[in-house]
Amino acid sequence: MEKILLHMCCGPCSCYPTKKLRAEGFEPVGYFFNPNIHPHQEWRLRLRTAREFSEKVGIKFFADNHYRLREYLAKVWSVVDEADTIQFGDGFHRRCGICYAWRLGEAARFAAENNFEIFTSTLFYSRHQNHALMKKIAEHFAEKFGVKFFYEDFRAGWQEGIDLSLELGLYRQNYCGCLFSEEERFSNDLRKARKKFFADRQSRA
Ligand code: SF4
Repeated sequence: MEKILLHMCCGPCSCYPTKKLRAEGFEPVGYFFNPNIHPHQEWRLRLRTAREFSEKVGIKFFADNHYRLREYLAKVWSVVDEADTIQFGDGFHRRCGICYAWRLGEAARFAAENNFEIFTSTLFYSRHQNHALMKKIAEHFAEKFGVKFFYEDFRAGWQEGIDLSLELGLYRQNYCGCLFSEEERFSNDLRKARKKFFADRQSRA
């Protein structure tokens, strides 16, 4: 079986891609690199869950064991203004492009430096990300580091992935990862501001 580096954003999102890749004749090896996850305890919990998943299904697992809140903020801060928080469509914000590039670039670099010829990511399982942009970024870094990027739209197995994660008893998070996404998910003030933004835009149209 051909080894493939599977960048893992978390345990639950890894369920379907791992199963599918195995069915296609690959041997997935997990790699957790997600400096976008905050706060610290949440990052630790998702890292622990990704490791737990790997042990339960019997795949090798590597992880970047450093919490990188300050580096993340330094990278995205210049684009995090009010408009970026409110204006969104298909789950995309300007900061997400920076976030994808950091994670997919690191996955490609790790693959190249550890003798993997090919890599992919569980980000392609998410229905909440900008799929086309992630694909473009992954292809760019594959070329830069001299590895292949394996593309598959894992969203096809959305429900199956959820069912598998429940069967395995994995912790399932309820926001994307960064502090901004947590606020967008739970803040009533932000919900109202977003509603007003879209209503105003509609009335101007
Ligand atoms: S919403 Fe998700 S993809 Fe976008 S910047 Fe935050 S953690 Fe990254």
